[in-house]
Amino acid sequence: MQRKKAHIDARIKKASIDKGIIVLLTGNGKGKSSSALGMVCRALGHNMQIAIVKFLKGTQDTGEDVFLTKQTNIRTITMNTGFTWDTQDRELDKKMALETWQQAEQYFGDKYIDLVVLDELTYMINYKYLDEKVILNTLNNRQKNQHIIITGRSATKDLIAIADTVSEITDIKHAFRSDIKAQKGIDL
Ligand code: ATP
Ligand code: MG
Repeated sequence: MQRKKAHIDARIKKASIDKGIIVLLTGNGKGKSSSALGMVCRALGHNMQIAIVKFLKGTQDTGEDVFLTKQTNIRTITMNTGFTWDTQDRELDKKMALETWQQAEQYFGDKYIDLVVLDELTYMINYKYLDEKVILNTLNNRQKNQHIIITGRSATKDLIAIADTVSEITDIKHAFRSDIKAQKGIDL
């Protein structure tokens, strides 16, 4: 234990760099967006300024949508998707994704924004709604102390490469597959 403590103390001492980081939360398991929101709560506790950009919003407002809009240190942009299973319209979705991204761009150069959440961004890249090179370039050139959190399944290797912290959440079980409907406070 003593040796372990010495090792850990040395590692803590060595980690002296202070900078904005990119956190990427991917994988098929539940917990990506809610983890991002956990970090939003942490940031709020430190009185930090936060921007949340939601790509692919569901039809129903989630508990956090209701709660977070009441927070003065948070500004939110939500993609106005035309997507429904009945009227799948790729061109409209692409246009909406681009509009959302263009609105989000104001935050990356804003030194007063400490944390930007890009919720479900991976799909915009995977469906080719947005140009990945443009995204990577913009993120690389953001304010240097700004943190970014990206969520969504199937993150590309280039997104993984630019992120500083990457977690892949594995799907072991989900209540939905036992016919349990989405539960308030857990799923929405
Ligand atoms: P959460 O917002 O709960 O953290 P997530 O961001 O990891 O979930 P998404 O793919 O964005 O996952 O889906 C959000 C919704 O879908 C939530 O209601 C969540 O419970 C549900 N969900 C997430 N993963 C699964 C899964 N593997 N099977 C079934 N439903 C899922
Ligand atoms: Mg999510």
